[in-house]
Amino acid sequence: MKVCVVGGAGYIGSHTVYELIDAGHEVVVVDNLSTGLKDAVHKDALFYEGDITDFAALDKIIADENRKKPFDVVMHFAAKIVVPESVKNPSLYYYNNVEGVRTLLDVMVKHNIKNIIFSSTAAVYGKAKDGVCTEESETKPINPYGETKLASEKMIGWFAHAYGMNYCIFRYFNVAGAHKTLEIGLLRDHLTHIVPVTIQTALGIREKMTVFGDDYDTFDGTCVRDYIHVSDIAYAHVLGMEHIANKNVSVIINLGSNQGFSVKNIISEVEKHYPVNHEYGARREGDPAKLIASNKRAKEILGWTPKRDLSEIILSDLEFRKKHKK
Ligand code: UDP
Repeated sequence: MKVCVVGGAGYIGSHTVYELIDAGHEVVVVDNLSTGLKDAVHKDALFYEGDITDFAALDKIIADENRKKPFDVVMHFAAKIVVPESVKNPSLYYYNNVEGVRTLLDVMVKHNIKNIIFSSTAAVYGKAKDGVCTEESETKPINPYGETKLASEKMIGWFAHAYGMNYCIFRYFNVAGAHKTLEIGLLRDHLTHIVPVTIQTALGIREKMTVFGDDYDTFDGTCVRDYIHVSDIAYAHVLGMEHIANKNVSVIINLGSNQGFSVKNIISEVEKHYPVNHEYGARREGDPAKLIASNKRAKEILGWTPKRDLSEIILSDLEFRKKHKK
């Protein structure tokens, strides 16, 4: 299939491009390089610099490419994804994440592209009851990031209804790790996610880290999350795309491991390799105590289960950061 990957120079996007190319698909990447890196784009993918909120730019790229061979699928990764940043700057999140999706959908409608794969998040569930989320769980975000993703999900649903499109919405849990070649991984300034922060601390790239709250109602008082390797997530996109395009259907699917690990567990796992200089601090605004995926639907519909466990996630990110010194 011919696939347009918007945000394909970013973390999850670039890994998905690798999986798509390995599976024999033709890939065109569009990215504004705000957080993505041109070097992260697979050498066999075609690259255009463009912004998801810029209708004219997207329109031209798609029109030019469609003349060569029409796109079958669009994948959307070009989102802002940091919870605390969304709490401080909701406008940035609504503009980029919601207005960006609307623009992309308008371009898809104009060029009659029927299939969209959309990156959503466990943050749409908010404070899920008992912390375990099925796709049927109530969606009640507790931060602007989750709100913007939920708004986009609903918008995609209405566009699909109006224009006969198919969608595969993936709700990611906590994504971490790097590609087995160590060529791509999560590289950017001011990382905030727990796995890279812990590993950077272990490697001395940062002096120390803070655990945000140890008084949550969880087994050790720190927040519990479901960690999933980026290459497992990326491969699910190949399966999701083939599923909706071939069967002409739409689905919402959790991508997680069905297992929860606390912040303390992450630190202990990294400390199997190096000590981690950490302290305990106040809770961070917008954090639910526990988020774990039910991944039953991914297994039933796509035959997908994660192949890599927490120790592999940590080891691959560790090796990646050792190599890139970042
Ligand atoms: N966390 C932490 N210290 C850090 C970064 C994150 O204690 O320096 C905690 C955070 O409060 C949350 C968990 O780690 O409980 C996962 O946060 P992350 O930002 O990695 O992902 P999120 O679940 O917010 O998407």
